[in-house]
Amino acid sequence: MSREATHPSAHDVIVIGGGVTGAGIARDLALRGLSVLLLEKGDWGAGTSGGSSWMIHGGPRYLEFDWDTTRLSCRDAGHIVTIARNLVYRVAFIIPVLPHDRNNIERMETAMEVYDRFQPLKKSHPHRRLTAAEARQVEPGLTPDLVGAVTMEEWGIDPYRLVYANVEDAMANGARALNHTQVTDLVRDGGKVIGVRYRGQDGVTSESRARVVVNATGPWSGEVGAMAGVPVKLRPAKGIHIVYPHRISNFSISCESVDGRDLLMVAHAGFTLLGTTDDDFYGDLDSVDVLEDEVDYLLQGFERVFPSIRSYRPVRTTTGVRPTLFKWRKYEDELSRRYEVVDHSAEGVDGFVTIAGGKLSMYRLMAEETSDAVCRKLGHQAPCTTASRPLPGNESDLEPAEDLARRYRISALAATKLQGRHGSNAAKVLDQLDTARLLCRCEPITEAELVFAVRHEQVRNVVDAFRRVGLAGGPCAGAACVLRASAVIGRELGWSASQRFDAARDFIRGSWLGRAPVMGHAGWAQEELARGALRGLNL
Ligand SMILES: Cc1cc2nc3c(=O)[nH]c(=O)nc-3n(C[C@H](O)[C@H](O)[C@H](O)COP(=O)(O)OP(=O)(O)OC[C@H]3O[C@@H](n4cnc5c(N)ncnc54)[C@H](O)[C@@H]3O)c2cc1C
Repeated sequence: MSREATHPSAHDVIVIGGGVTGAGIARDLALRGLSVLLLEKGDWGAGTSGGSSWMIHGGPRYLEFDWDTTRLSCRDAGHIVTIARNLVYRVAFIIPVLPHDRNNIERMETAMEVYDRFQPLKKSHPHRRLTAAEARQVEPGLTPDLVGAVTMEEWGIDPYRLVYANVEDAMANGARALNHTQVTDLVRDGGKVIGVRYRGQDGVTSESRARVVVNATGPWSGEVGAMAGVPVKLRPAKGIHIVYPHRISNFSISCESVDGRDLLMVAHAGFTLLGTTDDDFYGDLDSVDVLEDEVDYLLQGFERVFPSIRSYRPVRTTTGVRPTLFKWRKYEDELSRRYEVVDHSAEGVDGFVTIAGGKLSMYRLMAEETSDAVCRKLGHQAPCTTASRPLPGNESDLEPAEDLARRYRISALAATKLQGRHGSNAAKVLDQLDTARLLCRCEPITEAELVFAVRHEQVRNVVDAFRRVGLAGGPCAGAACVLRASAVIGRELGWSASQRFDAARDFIRGSWLGRAPVMGHAGWAQEELARGALRGLNL
């Protein structure tokens, strides 16, 4: 049931969309001294940003048809890895070449030689060429059929933490930022957009006024554009990943699919993402399913270069819809990853700016250009500082993880992972509780971190905890930790016993959808067991 609040609040700028782009814009504008309201209908990063391949990369693939995107992306990646040192880690790729591949080893090496020119922009190393024997020595899982390989280096990142770090810094500089808050309409005065109507988690509808409203809703930007009566033309493309709860290779691996498209198996810190598809998407953006066919397409491509892939147990799938700019005729993966900042006053709608397209790897640049456009409209003169200003937790160097571990009596692995999420603020997080208890046996997440996330990072349910602290991201997929986590969150938020059970059950039911396409025979048996155990607890 929706209830009305009475007094509209006023800001210089309202940003709609709490993905990496909207969060980056809110931070940039707040740092320039403007008053900002950032609204996200789900949770921070829960849209396309969280469904990405978790890479700050340059995109060597785009060199063939859109090298400027590779250049801009590499340049901005260089800034991101400097301001978010605790969040990034190097991801070393091996690109095996098989006898009938689209690119033979000479062509592949030539492409990498060109990419090497861009690598210094993002502080990455140049490629190496490997013989077949060298490649199999460093990556024994590769097929004996290979003729050679090249290496390539990119950066990995946790996009949920990247988004939240931007939100946190925006708030530290005066912005208001509300998750679980959906913009339901725009407030208009003739042709001008003068504010938004939004519904919060409590069901209350409020109104807020602003001199400029920014539409940073990624694949939803057409929907929000329609509220202002302007077309935002995208060609949304769906992508999926298979998630393994551990590393299954020494290197990340790039290979080609049955139709010649590039696929990636990305070895992240403690898990592996195998993806991704790239298909025109016409469905409901709020309900994107993963199909078993898509899973088979990925496995078929990888089996050719990494024959044992089907013997590993995936725990779930992820999916996201790329907010690609519209172009007729081209195949999805040949579409440019460029972005556009549109001031809709040219179409007779003043006070409304849209940012569409782009990539996670250049979110900071996209935010800078959008903020420049907003400042021009407001006649506000303040330079962008985000290229060099560290994100929270990066203001000083990290203490050695072993020292932190010893002081708080946690394992070095738990300390390292905590620093990966919180940087130099890790000790502040552990100070929340006087216990070093872990939430789960398979992922070393402390109870103190979850308490911190509820108290200070807007965690409102168990799925938010998955995004903020990585809860249920390990091999147990939640079976061993979701009840305990729900009790910890419930204690902080004052939930009754039945609310705690409901929250755990909602998480299990929700995550089932992402697990079903990769279950396989053993997976179904395990699921039956886990569900049986939970039924015993009335879940
Ligand atoms: C499978 C896949 C893999 C990818 N891998 C990479 C990669 O490795 N590296 C890379 O650089 N790029 C990658 N990309 C692209 C990248 O993820 C996106 O370009 C980027 O994350 C888009 O961010 P965004 O903030 O614009 O959109 P989103 O992250 O989708 O954010 C938009 C937000 O707006 C919110 N919203 C929508 N409507 C409303 C409303 N009415 N009120 C309030 N909020 C609303 C949504 O809930 C959402 O959270 C990948 C994309 C996909 C699909």
